[in-house]
Amino acid sequence: MEKVFFTDMRTKPNNSLLNKFAKLIKKSGVLEKIKPKMEVAIKLHWGEPGNLSYIHPLYIRVLVNLIKKQGAYPFITDTNTIYRGPRNKATTNIEVAIKHGFNYSVLDAPVIIADGIKGKSYITIPVKNGFKLDEIKIGNALYWADFVFVVSHFKGHILYGFGGAIKNIVMGFAPQSFKQVLHSDMKPEIKQDKCVGCGNCAKICPAGAIVIKNKKASINQEKCIGCGECIVVCPTSAIPVQWKTDIEPLYQKTADFINAVWENMKEKIFCINFLINLNPNCDCMGWNEPPLLEDIGILATHNPVIIDKVSLDLIIKKAGKDVFKEYHKKDYYILFNLLKSHLVNFEKIKI
Ligand code: SF4
Ligand code: SF4
Repeated sequence: MEKVFFTDMRTKPNNSLLNKFAKLIKKSGVLEKIKPKMEVAIKLHWGEPGNLSYIHPLYIRVLVNLIKKQGAYPFITDTNTIYRGPRNKATTNIEVAIKHGFNYSVLDAPVIIADGIKGKSYITIPVKNGFKLDEIKIGNALYWADFVFVVSHFKGHILYGFGGAIKNIVMGFAPQSFKQVLHSDMKPEIKQDKCVGCGNCAKICPAGAIVIKNKKASINQEKCIGCGECIVVCPTSAIPVQWKTDIEPLYQKTADFINAVWENMKEKIFCINFLINLNPNCDCMGWNEPPLLEDIGILATHNPVIIDKVSLDLIIKKAGKDVFKEYHKKDYYILFNLLKSHLVNFEKIKI
């Protein structure tokens, strides 16, 4: 039976959130798996410039300290993005991490970009009986780490509906090029009557797929890689995505990715979800809106599917409704159904 450890956000003198977080990790028993000289990845999302809702670096310092006490060597890591911006190449990606407080002086651990300076450092592993994929690619630093803490800020997400451990593994372990494969079924179209020809979409498109002619934008579907960036920057909502037809392939590829990671890396993964700053959108946006509900707590367990399901259950219980499903109109239970073999019996243990 899987054990899901949980701490709420209530504090009192001499029991800060950092203390509670340390206690959660110790009680979970995961530190017994960390042996001297292991190289231990802490997989994070340190947020796009302008976003302030990512996990506070001092939580990560707590985790670094605990790993070091075991005699191991922790490092902070993430992969490069496919959309334009400073996180799409290693040099400027590390600069963003440093500016957001994920630097050596705060963390006492280095930041290493998992898929290398141009996203070309990865390993390919097979998918057995996949829904859509025969193989997946994983950033080298994540694959070759002796242990991986998947540390996720739980929130809404424009494509998935929600973003937690599953998304942190799938989009987060995948090198730049494979993110394109994951996104490639999501191809938007432009509502010409709503387009005002501002050019925002053409400027941000990483594939050069958008042209503006006579003050109207159009998408070359052959070139489009389905990243969804143009949807986000359009000021007039002229670029909706046909989610009903396009979301299922994304969920199928996601399930394939999780299953392949589980097949190859199961013994060395541990997930931590922060149910705080429960914003409607991902930390890859260069801004953050007010949370949809107040902070709930921190969860820790082995399996990414279980931790995300328990996270959503807690959110629904607290809000009295499925806030992210309502906000993004995504039926993410399709994804849980594809991954139902992971949803074994579990018990929740409050720390
Ligand atoms: S057209 Fe939109 S979805 Fe397609 S690649 Fe360009 S920005 Fe991404
Ligand atoms: S961002 Fe929207 S309004 Fe601006 S050119 Fe593109 S489709 Fe038209």
